[in-house]
Amino acid sequence: MIAESITPGNLKTEDEHRRDICTVGRWIHARSFVAATDGNISVRLDPSRILTSPTAMSKGMMTPDALVVTDLKGKRLAGHRLPSSELAMHLLVYRRRPDVNAVCHAHPPTATGYAAARIPLNRAIISEVVLSLGCIPVAPYATPGTPELTAVLAPLVQSNDALLMANHGVVTYGQDLLTAFFRMETVEHFAQVSLVTELLGKQSLLSGRDVEKLLAARVRYGTATASQVGAECPVTSDGETPPRVSVTREELEALIEEAVRQDRARR
Ligand SMILES: [Zn+2]
Repeated sequence: MIAESITPGNLKTEDEHRRDICTVGRWIHARSFVAATDGNISVRLDPSRILTSPTAMSKGMMTPDALVVTDLKGKRLAGHRLPSSELAMHLLVYRRRPDVNAVCHAHPPTATGYAAARIPLNRAIISEVVLSLGCIPVAPYATPGTPELTAVLAPLVQSNDALLMANHGVVTYGQDLLTAFFRMETVEHFAQVSLVTELLGKQSLLSGRDVEKLLAARVRYGTATASQVGAECPVTSDGETPPRVSVTREELEALIEEAVRQDRARR
């Protein structure tokens, strides 16, 4: 089977955008980034029209004619189906980020685990992620498909290209659909690597100096990202709190016994 591909860029015909959305839908489904009819994908066709996946359809089974065209307020302009129930989240991103032409929303299991634990992916453990995405914060929980969700996302959209949504999933976006999809892949991959470091019980963070050098490289490589680096993004070894130590009950009892013995010996 020939691997499907899509080309970068957003200057495409509507038919090409329809095919691209179906291809990316198959990719996120094949990678288990979604289950059942979860997730949604959209593209900005022009300044006033959005092309989006329909509601209640597997992202792995979409056909170009199943997609829906809406305006920037979510009013359906073309298509027989209803647009995605999360369309408001996509429209928020398009309104706040004129540079963004595509949005991907999915529930990749490891990153969604971090979202469910409300743990941001903001530690400087992988140089490539510092370069490409910076930090992936967690937006507070809000009911999917409601104005409350767009309200909690709104303050984070401007300065990030990928967000975890507490107890829900992930949204990524970019100048074209390939970029938005790659960011979804990066978030899930980074979450998996982060989880492995947690399982190993050790994370060696990059230093502030290491991160500075990476940010200089970002400028050199022309890596376009909205992520703003500040005091808390990413967390480096400079600001690291001492590592947590865990001991078994037997080790703890032995330590206490030893301390009591030493104390008695001193009296
Ligand atoms: Zn969702």
